[in-house]
Amino acid sequence: MTRPGPRFPVGLDRLKPAARSPDTEVLRPQRPLHEAARDAARQQAPSGLGLDSPAVRERMAARLQAEGLRCEPVLRALASVPRHHFVDSALATQAYEDTALPIGHGQTISKPSVVGRMLELLFAGDSARAVGHLGRVLEIGTGCGYQAALLSLLARRVVSIERLRPLHEKACENLAGWREGDLRLLYGDGRAGHAPGAPFDSIIAAAGGEALPDAWTAQLAEGGRLVAPMHDERAGGQVLVVVDKRNGMLHRQQLDGVHFVPLKSGIA
Ligand code: SAH
Repeated sequence: MTRPGPRFPVGLDRLKPAARSPDTEVLRPQRPLHEAARDAARQQAPSGLGLDSPAVRERMAARLQAEGLRCEPVLRALASVPRHHFVDSALATQAYEDTALPIGHGQTISKPSVVGRMLELLFAGDSARAVGHLGRVLEIGTGCGYQAALLSLLARRVVSIERLRPLHEKACENLAGWREGDLRLLYGDGRAGHAPGAPFDSIIAAAGGEALPDAWTAQLAEGGRLVAPMHDERAGGQVLVVVDKRNGMLHRQQLDGVHFVPLKSGIA
């Protein structure tokens, strides 16, 4: 894709310190679609309410900080990327609420708090802590491209894969003017990862399957970290899984309960 010029201002303004609040037990990035659709029906077209103002997204980042998000680079990225550019204009007024929104084709853009939590977890990986950025990143599930834009501010190189052609095309459109970082959007089945770009220091999935595809762990670099939702029988639902590769060995942790769209096979 071409990146002709910055469309979005990248204001890295200060974020106010705030008190820590109790950790959220269950994160629901993908609110049930019927609820999102009902909300969509309630919305009116935005009427120049100042959504382009950096103050709107800075307030969202400050709220997430107040709720416990601590990673400064992630907070700055959330305060920089205009989320309302990535959703239908009828939903734009809800873009800075901590809510998932429909992006068409039965998919949703994840809640900002969940996106922030996953990016913060990626940042806590060995190599990201050592170098202060996410390095080479693989994202599975581009959706509307919002998280890909955030990643491009936090990494050296981002490859993002989407299996639904209309969403891949929409993300290309949404990011046509995006000039930050080195971002490639691919159409394909992300379960196979992207061998030509491997190894990846950071791998993040926005859709959850029954198991982690072997390609992802194989394409994870030494010192790298993978964060993905995955079904867990014992938990009776999806959980966030974090995998670190150290000395060639995989170390796995299971964290918060989550609710993401399914990781599907093939392309459509
Ligand atoms: N990060 C996205 C969230 C999109 S929802 C955003 O910021 O908008 C998750 C996405 O994963 C959906 O678009 C879905 O089509 C996609 N997906 C599901 N299985 C996939 C697979 N095997 N390969 C690539 N994308 C997949």
